[in-house]
Amino acid sequence: MKKLITLFLLTSILIGCTPATPTTLPPTPEPDPAQEATAAPETEPAAWWRDAVFYEIFVRSFQDSDGDGIGDFNGIVQRLDYIQELGANALWLMPIHPSPSYHGYDVLNYYAVNPEYGTMDDFRKLLTEAHERGIRVIIDLVLNHTSSQHPFFVDANRDVNSPYRDWYIWSNETGNYWHQGNGGNYYGFFWGGMPDLNYRNPEVTAQMEEVTRYWLEDIGVDGFRIDAAKHLIEEGAKIENTEATHEWFKEFYTFYKSIEPDAYTVGEVYGAGAFLATKYAGQTDHIFNFELASGFVNSVAGESNTGINGAWAFTLKDISNGNYATFLTNHDQNRVISVLNGNEQKAKLAAVLLLTSPGTPFIYYGEEIGMQGRKPDEDIRLPMQWNADVNAGFTTGTPWRMPDASYTQVNVAAQEKDPGSLLNLYRMLTRLRAEHPVLRDGNLTVLETGNSGVYAILRHSDSEDVLILINLKGTPIFEYSLGLPDAILADGTHTVTSLLDTTQANNLNITGGMFTGYRPLAELHPYQAYIFKLK
Ligand code: CA
Repeated sequence: MKKLITLFLLTSILIGCTPATPTTLPPTPEPDPAQEATAAPETEPAAWWRDAVFYEIFVRSFQDSDGDGIGDFNGIVQRLDYIQELGANALWLMPIHPSPSYHGYDVLNYYAVNPEYGTMDDFRKLLTEAHERGIRVIIDLVLNHTSSQHPFFVDANRDVNSPYRDWYIWSNETGNYWHQGNGGNYYGFFWGGMPDLNYRNPEVTAQMEEVTRYWLEDIGVDGFRIDAAKHLIEEGAKIENTEATHEWFKEFYTFYKSIEPDAYTVGEVYGAGAFLATKYAGQTDHIFNFELASGFVNSVAGESNTGINGAWAFTLKDISNGNYATFLTNHDQNRVISVLNGNEQKAKLAAVLLLTSPGTPFIYYGEEIGMQGRKPDEDIRLPMQWNADVNAGFTTGTPWRMPDASYTQVNVAAQEKDPGSLLNLYRMLTRLRAEHPVLRDGNLTVLETGNSGVYAILRHSDSEDVLILINLKGTPIFEYSLGLPDAILADGTHTVTSLLDTTQANNLNITGGMFTGYRPLAELHPYQAYIFKLK
């Protein structure tokens, strides 16, 4: 704890004197208006990621700019206006390094970009253009393993006396995670093509710290999504979230904050809930709250508030300050609208849950228009559906993989014209989130509703109170009544006005800071979400 406090002090001091921070200057220093604009007027050290809405992009599938059928950095530049209109102010790019695979999670060179995606100059241009719009960019950092074709591993495997031999984990053991190499078996948790790096070797740590420094300082990214964070160091039979892994991340945190106090990391700890998130405090800035994501999606799918209310019980107990990343589904999971059997009304409710909740939300590209997709993985990472033209407007050439056939109906161009579309709801929700700070960092209280088909929360701060009310069911609900069990509101009569449309609800009477038996509307429409401001 003491270490943490010291670090926060150090962080504040560094922020206070950013221009004079004695770090090595990048070889080609590029002005960063976005960072300057946010750094100067800030009076409180609120981290930028607390106000961020992230957009997760699989570069290969987002937008092809040169007709080779593969998405690229220049394609993202062409779509920055779209990203801005969506209300995202940060991007997470899935791996951008050279790789033998289509997805890139087996890296060949940590200091280069995938030539299929463009040149390093193209990437720098994307950074500059994004920063000019106030959009931050983080990239996937694959620490746990390299490609088996990475020169380090090739050398390590070629010769048992290679200086890189001890960069990987060798044994005579056999079993699920062991793969036959030259002179022994090597450990690769995911598969033989991804040998795990040996973080008990300080040379490996030093190398990956240099990679981190390079991208933060020389290139200027704003942070990293850390792939497979929980798998970093094994301790015998314990292969996830080990003490050694936590110790490693503590040092890593100190390291990257010393390079750039404003750098952000979000760890992928697959399946983690709030309790595990507390274990990574002071080691990453955030981890993804998978428990909450399941709660969002399961409650909408199952038309019952039990999943989400259960997830809130754990999250509020363990991390009441919203310091985690939220999402519905990501590139490793079936797309949310497919989980919801193609029901667009349900997809809208899921969007409301995500974007009215605490935490830093991540939208997976295409989710905002209801792109479908079930595994295999390639099919949850298909080309973005921009319009009804050939190949969905993704490429003028032959796409690396065909877009989903739904693109003639489900696409950005069509939804932009339709005020009631899923896309326009996402835009409205991100705008609400930007305009009402209480939706980002206000407290959350789960309300009693007297009906498992009704979900209701109060977002509360000193300056603002917002009530979110959802009928999760496909039928109208008349039998419900809201209760606030904690004394947190000001006594008196509050007017209750919709932030989404012109709906006016019944006044709310507060006594002793609480209320009970409140029915804002006589009828809750099927699959309908209401967002009310109390005054
Ligand atoms: Ca291309």
